[in-house]
Amino acid sequence: MQNDKRPRLAIDMDEVLADTHQKFLALYHQDYGIAMDIYQEPGKELHENLPDHLREQWKVYIHQKGFFRDIPPMRDAIETVKALQERYNVYVVSAAIEFRNSLEDKLDWLDEHFPFIPWTNILFTGEKIIAADVMIDDRIKNLAHFQGRKLLYTSPHNVLITGYERVNSWRDVAELLL
Ligand SMILES: [Mg+2]
Repeated sequence: MQNDKRPRLAIDMDEVLADTHQKFLALYHQDYGIAMDIYQEPGKELHENLPDHLREQWKVYIHQKGFFRDIPPMRDAIETVKALQERYNVYVVSAAIEFRNSLEDKLDWLDEHFPFIPWTNILFTGEKIIAADVMIDDRIKNLAHFQGRKLLYTSPHNVLITGYERVNSWRDVAELLL
């Protein structure tokens, strides 16, 4: 919808629309008995909180076909994105190319949970070099060079980062943008 007059809103998938953190925890729990509520040291990646012998396991999981297919959506994400679509031209922007097996899974996942987002508004990319008015992402590498309003979606790995407008939940997003 390139001729759309509404402002463009670019939304990340993992740790923003999709609770990928929870999927990893479920796998570590199922395969290695790691507690679902394992302590998350602020500012660290999930795998950095695991015992040494499991620290590389995430790379195995994330490349498996199906990993991205059954991730739980983030709380309130579906309803909020639906409401945002009334005012914004909503794009999903995911650096999916990094994980080639993720492409079909991510498309199927979006089709299941966000069927109201048309295929024209799904951008699977490498680096997120895009033009939009607002971007919501949990990684500052994606926000740093973005020319627009940047909303950092809180995740354990980014809680120590300052200098960004931050949203802790989809309710926060709704309050700021709706
Ligand atoms: Mg992300």
